[in-house]
Amino acid sequence: MAFLIVSIFPKLFVIDMFFFIMGKILGVIGGGQLGMMLTEAASNMKSEISNVIVLDPTINCPASKVGAEQIVADFKDASAIKELAEKCDVITYEIESGDSQVLKSLEETCEINPSPETLETIQDKLIQKKFLTKNCIPVAEFREITSREELESKINEFGLPVLLKTRTGAYDGRGNFKISALDQVPEALQVFEGQSLMVEKFVDFKMEVSVIASRSTSGEIRTYPLVENIHKDNILNMTIAPARVNETISKNAEEIAHKTMEVLHGAGVFGIEMFVTINDQILINEIAPRVHNSGHHTLQSSKTSQFEQHLRAILGLELGSTELVHNTIMYNILGPKDFTGIYKPPSIDLENTFLKMYGKMESKPQRKIGHVNLVDKNNLGMENLLERVNILSDSIKIIPA
Ligand code: ATP
Ligand code: MG
Repeated sequence: MAFLIVSIFPKLFVIDMFFFIMGKILGVIGGGQLGMMLTEAASNMKSEISNVIVLDPTINCPASKVGAEQIVADFKDASAIKELAEKCDVITYEIESGDSQVLKSLEETCEINPSPETLETIQDKLIQKKFLTKNCIPVAEFREITSREELESKINEFGLPVLLKTRTGAYDGRGNFKISALDQVPEALQVFEGQSLMVEKFVDFKMEVSVIASRSTSGEIRTYPLVENIHKDNILNMTIAPARVNETISKNAEEIAHKTMEVLHGAGVFGIEMFVTINDQILINEIAPRVHNSGHHTLQSSKTSQFEQHLRAILGLELGSTELVHNTIMYNILGPKDFTGIYKPPSIDLENTFLKMYGKMESKPQRKIGHVNLVDKNNLGMENLLERVNILSDSIKIIPA
């Protein structure tokens, strides 16, 4: 927001005119850990961003604990989103489930990045995959499913196993059902009854990888080096930066990410999840229109964190360097499966090991409550990092407070 201040000093009869530029007010839909780390990045960019307001239903959400103002409301609450747009100069999101129709109606009031149109393309996995295919970007074979007959016919065509997926609102694999035998079809359809669905050929992948890509409002594109993602129970367990693949694969993946950003036209950071198939082919699994869990390593490993990069991108600033300075493993801290309640935050006092807790009051089963970045500042190699992460993961215990 730019203000013209005219001050009159009667003694000197001089009109002093001061222009001073205050930073913009940033609105974020979602105030969880991603909103929290965006707020922290914004606090280091005071001349560009003077204030952060998040919209989140949880009182004392993580972002509010690091200085963001909070509107307490559901992510899809149209009047709360409108209030956010009225109070802010630019809106972004840390979750992809915002109401793109409501956001579209507010584009004249407030700048929104990535645009609601980009959000709309990504929110629905079927529309997203059709868009990628249309632009010659490789994905697993897929088809819309509206009936049992259609599903059975696609299973015939693709062969088993297949993955039945809900088109919207999925996370941590909860919208996926792997069908390995024809007699599972009724059960799979029943689990997702009433939801719009698609089916995908099951990819025999040898590795899951991702690229954190950014595109600024001015069209500049930068991608971070390819990272490797290891999941447990469908939830990201750790990210290894860089991915343990040869140069051809990482170059290919980064080129696909670059091309995706060119056609998508979104502004901001995007997490592009991919498979490396057993034939070393790269297929995009899905795109997240936001900062991404597999980019948390950048907080310590890279010249520019993904959070700062996102802010640079949506504000139209020059993008920062994406160079990976140190090999790093990011390990997610999840709530134990058998415990819900207030917990004692762990502490870690180890060299080149950076613990980040998200300030969530309660631990819930498999809930992400923090992460640790293990950084190879002494160049001891990936094996050493893997040993360190194994020892560390065994020692982190989340216990009741
Ligand atoms: P997230 O887990 O990122 O929150 P999500 O719930 O939307 O996302 P996906 O990313 O579509 O789910 O799938 C979750 C996991 O399921 C993937 O990380 C991958 O391990 C597996 N998966 C998804 N699609 C396929 C496929 N076509 N073939 C084989 N495995 C797949
Ligand atoms: Mg995924």
